[in-house]
Amino acid sequence: MTKLPDLTSDCASCAALCCLALAFDKGGDFAIDKPAGLPCPNLDAGLGCTLYNRLEAEGFRGCAAYECKGAGQRVVQELFKGRDWLKHPDLAEPMMAAFAAMRQVHDGIELLETARTLDLPGALEAERQALLRAYLPAEWTLESLAAFSTSGAPVRLKAFLPRLRDWV
Ligand code: SF4
Repeated sequence: MTKLPDLTSDCASCAALCCLALAFDKGGDFAIDKPAGLPCPNLDAGLGCTLYNRLEAEGFRGCAAYECKGAGQRVVQELFKGRDWLKHPDLAEPMMAAFAAMRQVHDGIELLETARTLDLPGALEAERQALLRAYLPAEWTLESLAAFSTSGAPVRLKAFLPRLRDWV
């Protein structure tokens, strides 16, 4: 089976995809409103966060708590060869789409890996492994990622998880 990806964020290997792609509402977790697809005004010219060491103090508790589960750096490095949307604005849309899809993939991998720690009977364990293979292809492309949400794997995972109730 393909090696598991890193499931924790590595912002230094990303291109601030969460700071571009995600929307947030002004309130207890965010000091400003930001729509999806608009770069956060707190980004610097190198796509670093100017508030990085004081996010909570500046009212961005939501940013401090956010975890992309490794989807951001994977999209940037594996699918876009380290390029970024600031130097290549035409990449913003495909990068955001790939980020959303990869986030779904990594969420699924995390759940399936958590299920690995349960003492599942053989048939369920075989299903878990089969599902994990669907989430761990040898390679992702923009096309295969775009097709993932309708590939059947997310629906299979959704049906699989409640069946683990007796082993949790
Ligand atoms: S405040 Fe910093 S971490 Fe949060 S979205 Fe803006 S640039 Fe990103």
